[in-house]
Amino acid sequence: MTVQEHSSAVAGSAGEPAFVNRRDPARRLGPDGKPAVSRRAAIWADVPDEKWNDWRWQLSNRVNELSEIEAILNLTDDEREGLSAPDKFRVDVTPYFISLVDPDDPDDPIRRQIIPTGRELRSFTGMMEDSLAEDRHSPVPGLVHRYPDRVLMLITTQCASYCRYCTRSRIVGDPSQNFNRKEHEAQLDYIRRTPQIRDVLISGGDGLTLAPKLLESVLRGLREIPHVEIIRIGSRVPVFLPQRIDDELGEMLAKYHPVWLNIHVNHPNEITPELARACDVLARAGVPLGNQSVLLAGVNDCVHIQRDLVQRLVEIRVRPYYIYQCDLVEGAGHFRTPVGKGLEIMEGLRGHTSGYAVPQFIVDAPGGGGKIPVMPNYLVSYSDHKIVLRNYEGYITTYEEPTAYTPHDRASCRWCQNPRPEPGQEGITGLLDGKRMWIEPAGFVETHARGNEEAHRLQDPSKWVPYGVGALEGQAGQPLPVLQATTGDRNGDALAGYGPGEEPRPADGLPTATANHELL
Ligand SMILES: *Cc1c(COP(=O)(O)O)cnc(C)c1O
Ligand code: SF4
Repeated sequence: MTVQEHSSAVAGSAGEPAFVNRRDPARRLGPDGKPAVSRRAAIWADVPDEKWNDWRWQLSNRVNELSEIEAILNLTDDEREGLSAPDKFRVDVTPYFISLVDPDDPDDPIRRQIIPTGRELRSFTGMMEDSLAEDRHSPVPGLVHRYPDRVLMLITTQCASYCRYCTRSRIVGDPSQNFNRKEHEAQLDYIRRTPQIRDVLISGGDGLTLAPKLLESVLRGLREIPHVEIIRIGSRVPVFLPQRIDDELGEMLAKYHPVWLNIHVNHPNEITPELARACDVLARAGVPLGNQSVLLAGVNDCVHIQRDLVQRLVEIRVRPYYIYQCDLVEGAGHFRTPVGKGLEIMEGLRGHTSGYAVPQFIVDAPGGGGKIPVMPNYLVSYSDHKIVLRNYEGYITTYEEPTAYTPHDRASCRWCQNPRPEPGQEGITGLLDGKRMWIEPAGFVETHARGNEEAHRLQDPSKWVPYGVGALEGQAGQPLPVLQATTGDRNGDALAGYGPGEEPRPADGLPTATANHELL
């Protein structure tokens, strides 16, 4: 990949040196003064850079056999069992991606995603082969039409590497079930005949592993259909094989705009200089980028890891889109977490970091109801083993909770031990960690002036935002009076005058305002 400086280099007027923004992760330099690179496993130390950076070399040198992988990682018995199983879901990992794994750490979060274990062979309550009932929603092979206005178009079953928890493991990776020109034609034909389809999501497998000409013929076929408004690509190629994302690909995609792309990153360790440059190529080609991640036990079931992940994503100009509850799919049992874990993570993100960095937490409805945000209107009921969900049409479905979940090990988690400080805002995560019993938002002071029922009342009235709403007619535009603590000083307390459970109220006829004189 070429590292292009032109977009960040602003030539100075009077011969000043051009400014190069090294804070941009896509332009970071390594210790040798060249563009930063990730580590390589020792067995590839002598591979020349031209080969290493060639996506075709990366694809044809993927590792899949026990004997190859044990030369790179110190394998556990559980991994040996997984790698030796005859009918396992396909294993294949690019040299680039497996090199990111710590060879001596059996709990490495990247390793958990790509190296099979004996545990994935075990079944669990609620397990299904096609848990989203995609096959039942496919009018033609590889096209899933679940929502009124958009379709999922599977244009290949091949990926650059294979994720152990893949929702589509029933077909993905299987060369005998691949989709090709003939299927693409049938899919395009269905879309052509179905004018309510305005959004086509290309996935697979992974469409970006397709031969460039074949991929372009699909995009062109879609762009020739007038009612197709947007084309979306869901791809893990930028993560597994960033070498594939070159300027030529960016220029090709840009011909078929509007094209959006979601990548799939689950852990901050996957955010490398190579991924940053791949995302930069796509962003410069005008492709808006999102991220979909899957909540996985032992990988990212941790508020601090998730917060680091979403903040590293926005740094490479990727907007977190969805965080999925792990599907009830064969092979994924040991990755499942309780739904409450996702809710905990959402609470640890919303307000604690930029809104741009907060994804939506989704349960993809078992049985094929589509994606359901886990929010009060959609979460109908919750017991210790099952949650009841309502989708956008009123369809009611259930998600079976895992019976065996090994809670995230905070003591050994580098992120939990060194959480990014949030002065005065440790709130929710502190409660969940057991470090606190209650929350006092900054500005609230326990007065105990009249016993515990008065605790947590704000002492400084200038920081208090009253419940009342709105200005009085005729006063718009004028500064509003700040609510003052008034009379009835029963205990010498600045905010006295209000009984237990009462809040200060403006006097009759007075508008309410914050200290900054804004309307509420
Ligand atoms: C995920 C998915 C979509 C897209 O859903 P959005 O919520 O719009 O991202 C469309 N069709 C199918 C079958 C899907 O699984
Ligand atoms: S990249 Fe996507 S389709 Fe491919 S194995 Fe991973 S989850 Fe499945």
